[in-house]
Amino acid sequence: MKSFEFTHASTIEDAIRTAVSSGGKYLAGGTNLIDLMKDGAETPRKLVDLRRLGLNEILSLPGRGVMIQARVSNSAIANHPLIRTQYPVVSQAILSGATTQIRNMATAGGNLLQRTRCPYFAEVAFKSCNKREPGSGCAALDGFNREHALFGTSAQCVAIHPSDMAVALAILDAIVHVQGPDGTRAVPLRSFFRAPGDQPDLDNTLLPAELILGIE
Ligand SMILES: Cc1cc2nc3c(=O)[nH]c(=O)nc-3n(C[C@H](O)[C@H](O)[C@H](O)COP(=O)(O)OP(=O)(O)OC[C@H]3O[C@@H](n4cnc5c(N)ncnc54)[C@H](O)[C@@H]3O)c2cc1C
Repeated sequence: MKSFEFTHASTIEDAIRTAVSSGGKYLAGGTNLIDLMKDGAETPRKLVDLRRLGLNEILSLPGRGVMIQARVSNSAIANHPLIRTQYPVVSQAILSGATTQIRNMATAGGNLLQRTRCPYFAEVAFKSCNKREPGSGCAALDGFNREHALFGTSAQCVAIHPSDMAVALAILDAIVHVQGPDGTRAVPLRSFFRAPGDQPDLDNTLLPAELILGIE
């Protein structure tokens, strides 16, 4: 693994400031990012740990549903009485994937932003991956998982997004609340993710250093 700097953010503003000044990445449960760093597929210069920010509650929004804050674990979401009774599809989607141990560590924000499981992306021995290295080509197009995605593919990339939870949230018209250097905004989940098009390295419409606060 390449060496990197590590810092705990103490407030949301502190986290965003640090990400802006260092170009670093946020660290939540680490179940995806750390794996990719070990493989060399992600090489951030700095990690900004979000653990001290709170953001770990599920709140009822009268007349509007619920707010799942970004650091709530996948296990806590799946087992929460409000989610189990009012949005069982979210609970079922989460419990259909990974393992108990991973769901205990994985967070709501990290789940949305996990990278593709296309093996050509994660394995740096494959030099061609437009998602990992823009302009390098796509080994998957003629490779083992050339039919990885059925819809929304491009001549540059056929990778799918791996989040089961995101599919359930899309059905429910969820909204992602984010904060960045220029303030907060709310992004409908359906316009949060990007199809690969001619810029497969961009998985979503987040702006640099924007932090997910929660999912409504
Ligand atoms: C063996 C294994 C099996 C799995 N199986 C499944 C499965 O079947 N279905 C499924 O859906 N998933 C599966 N996963 C993926 C797992 O759900 C994700 O790894 C997890 O949800 C990522 O969350 P995290 O908090 O650990 O994110 P991290 O690894 O900490 O971060 C992931 C990304 O999100 C960014 N990030 C995190 N939080 C924020 C935030 N608040 N704002 C902005 N950026 C943020 C990080 O910078 C990073 O880029 C599996 C993972 C493993 C290791």
